[in-house]
Amino acid sequence: MRLIDGRAIAAAITAEVTAAVAELTAAGTTPTLAVVVPTDDEATAWYVRSIERAAAKVGITCRVDTLDHPDGDAITNHLDTLSADPGVHGIICQTPLPAGVSLDAVGAHIDPAKDIDGANPESLGRLAAGLPTYPPATAAAVLEILRRERIPLVGARAVVVGRSTVVGKPVALLLLAEHATVTVCHSRTIDLPAVCAEGDVLVAAVGRTHLIGAAHMKPGAVVIDVGTNPTPDGGLAGDVDPDGADRAAALTPVPGGVGPVTTMLLMRHAAQAAAKRSFSPVMAPVLTTVSSWMTTRE
Ligand code: NAP
Repeated sequence: MRLIDGRAIAAAITAEVTAAVAELTAAGTTPTLAVVVPTDDEATAWYVRSIERAAAKVGITCRVDTLDHPDGDAITNHLDTLSADPGVHGIICQTPLPAGVSLDAVGAHIDPAKDIDGANPESLGRLAAGLPTYPPATAAAVLEILRRERIPLVGARAVVVGRSTVVGKPVALLLLAEHATVTVCHSRTIDLPAVCAEGDVLVAAVGRTHLIGAAHMKPGAVVIDVGTNPTPDGGLAGDVDPDGADRAAALTPVPGGVGPVTTMLLMRHAAQAAAKRSFSPVMAPVLTTVSSWMTTRE
């Protein structure tokens, strides 16, 4: 079994995004990302710092708007303001949200053109309809890894465990768009191991440490572990038990798999959002990386 190096994939994306951001900046637009933080949760603060570091690495301006104990209206008003601000190209709203406030309700206040983490239900609808949109970065990361690892998807059996709107559903839609035959599992699935073992590609997005073991894997399967479960020693464990993954052909490790790719795809989406706002075909000879995005990317 081969471990897929998510950090190396993230590094390759970093190089592409850095080149595109340099082109855009030279042409007068520095991509700008706003991260709205409506919580003082420590894990969220850690994640936001990693977004800031990634933005600095590629040359994207990242502003962090921390809201002090906001209610739902304060969050949606802030998102409305950012959506209307021409100087902001991408918007992320962090979770957890205050009790009683849903991500769907809040996400609907992010302009879909700036919704670089697919939080607006309209973005998920556009994904389902096959229209251009930004999928949630984690879901996009799963497909980016499969694409860069050259895993054949046309006609392949793909099994996704988890049906959340942030990971499971968009991953399933993206796999479907690549012509895989997709099965989605959840907590009511009967005989989960047998269903999972049908997958040439198995994506685990559950949030249960090491739920997926040898019995869930078809020999030769490619297994993408989205799970990030805190361990007692302060580390992270995936949904897949690596000790049970011998029969797989390849597995993404946790940490070092989907996570770093996700963060860098947020940067790519932010740069793409800025490019779409400022790109003119007459600039194509100068904006070579950007113009290739205009024809090939979401
Ligand atoms: P979630 O909203 O809690 O959804 C979990 C899904 O797993 C649900 O669909 C649930 O089924 C299903 N499930 C729960 N227990 C199950 C079981 N025993 N058997 C089969 N299915 C089961 O979680 P999420 O937000 O999608 O996140 C999933 C994992 O990905 C978490 O570990 C999270 O931390 C991680 N994550 C990682 C990244 C990253 O960048 N690497 C980003 C986001 C999330 P029901 O629908 O029936 O309840």
